[in-house]
Amino acid sequence: MTTRPPLATEKLSMLIDGRSVAAQSGDFFESFDPFTGKAWALVPRAGVADVDAAVHAAATAFRGEWRTMTASARGQIMMRFADLVAEEAEKLAVLETRDNGKLINEMRMQCKYIPQWFRFFGGLADKIEGRVIPIDKPGVFNYTRREPLGVVAAITPWNSPLMLATWKLAPALAAGNTIVWKPSEFSSVSALFFGLLFEKAGFPKGVVNIVTGFGNEIGDCLVTHPDVAKVAFTGGDATGRRVYQSAAGGLKKVTLELGGKSANIVFADAKMEAAIPGLVSGIFAATGQTCIAGSRALVQRSVYDEVTEKLVAFAKTARIGDPLDPETQVGPITTLPQRAKVLDYIGVANAEGAAQLLGGRIPDDASIADGWFVEPTIFGNVKQSMRIAQEEVFGPVLSVIPFEDEDEAVAIANDTIYGLAAGMWTQDLGRAIRLPERLEAGSVWVNMYRATSYLSPFGGYKQSGIGRENGQTAIYEYLQEKSIWIDAGNSIPAPFVQR
Ligand code: NAD
Repeated sequence: MTTRPPLATEKLSMLIDGRSVAAQSGDFFESFDPFTGKAWALVPRAGVADVDAAVHAAATAFRGEWRTMTASARGQIMMRFADLVAEEAEKLAVLETRDNGKLINEMRMQCKYIPQWFRFFGGLADKIEGRVIPIDKPGVFNYTRREPLGVVAAITPWNSPLMLATWKLAPALAAGNTIVWKPSEFSSVSALFFGLLFEKAGFPKGVVNIVTGFGNEIGDCLVTHPDVAKVAFTGGDATGRRVYQSAAGGLKKVTLELGGKSANIVFADAKMEAAIPGLVSGIFAATGQTCIAGSRALVQRSVYDEVTEKLVAFAKTARIGDPLDPETQVGPITTLPQRAKVLDYIGVANAEGAAQLLGGRIPDDASIADGWFVEPTIFGNVKQSMRIAQEEVFGPVLSVIPFEDEDEAVAIANDTIYGLAAGMWTQDLGRAIRLPERLEAGSVWVNMYRATSYLSPFGGYKQSGIGRENGQTAIYEYLQEKSIWIDAGNSIPAPFVQR
């Protein structure tokens, strides 16, 4: 087993108004290491009073120095923050792997990549421009300004804690908003260390606040707080619906990044040496715990037997083990309830008559018995009517579905409530151009899978979400446009007549 470094601080602190604080109640909760199954950190358990204090700090900061600072200065603070994150990337990655059990290679990649978001959006801060409108009224000068919204509540899930928060914080801060961030109760530790870097970078106090606690205890009061202008949420669709309804009461702006049931489509003309690892990495690399998991492999019937055979053989070789070991390929599930849910879905798939081709159990290996593992699992001949073809499992479970031709592939791919992502494997150039247009998904990868970047928009079609993160346009999710009218003609208004 790899050495598991102890946590430097016994009890961690939240970040409110530039200060490291405990919850006002003094309560903490345990955070668990999914590989050892043991508690490894104590996280403050925020209550309503802490949320109120954090929102108050963010609202005050929004009206203070942050508001009057030039956009260039704002951007420079973000650049400094990016440098600090780069210096701490390795430490943050280890904290994330301890907390959520995802592979160290994946968390390292993410933590090293995060600074690019702060550099990119920091660079955009002073390029937020208004427009001069050639208005149709003589002597009137009309122009627009793009202004921040105010306090943004960022709520994030456990699977990629810092990366998914960064997708919200970087554009929101560049646009001049202030933040209250609530990370998942299952993976808050890295957030609290990340929080220590904001003041070091020079953010005025209160611009970024972090409260840790349970969604069912403090989520709703954060979303409905009268001083929160916008809610930027990533998580499951059931929670997303609840957040959307709560936000509606205050007519708040929202972006929602929700779940998926993404199709990874293999045509008979695909380069199989690439397509097979592409299918495997789409689902098993993050133990299926990624919103863009290619959890449905759609395989053209003429190569169905060949592909399933190779797929099973390849997946069988995946090394299951300690996520801190760089050689490990499949880590544990982040939480015990989530493992129970995954095993439950495996039972449902068997009961519905899917053919279990691989896995389906807790691994029979004493050296990893404390961890919350499920074997990589593959079901063949899955039908659209089965729950395993329609519902997000969020675990290492792949449904393989045969199709005859392009039209059927598109029909099956689009036949779910979700629309987050899709992949396709083909060497036919025409098909590679034709098909992405027909797929109802926010991201489509051709002969590749699971790539994201600060440069390219990301988000869901249909019930996979509302709004976009990443790419230049994401900054507009955190801005509102004001129209300013000036009478430059010195005219005397005619009362009772609209101009
Ligand atoms: P979750 O919905 O259970 O929790 C997400 C966050 O919402 C957590 O911080 C939680 O504490 C909070 N929350 C819970 N109840 C709340 C409430 N009533 N009000 C406000 N906040 C509340 O999700 P999870 O299990 O942590 O993460 C897995 C889900 O996230 C999957 O469905 C996955 O597809 C989705 N996800 C989506 C994306 C994307 O970008 N589309 C990325 C990663 C994960």
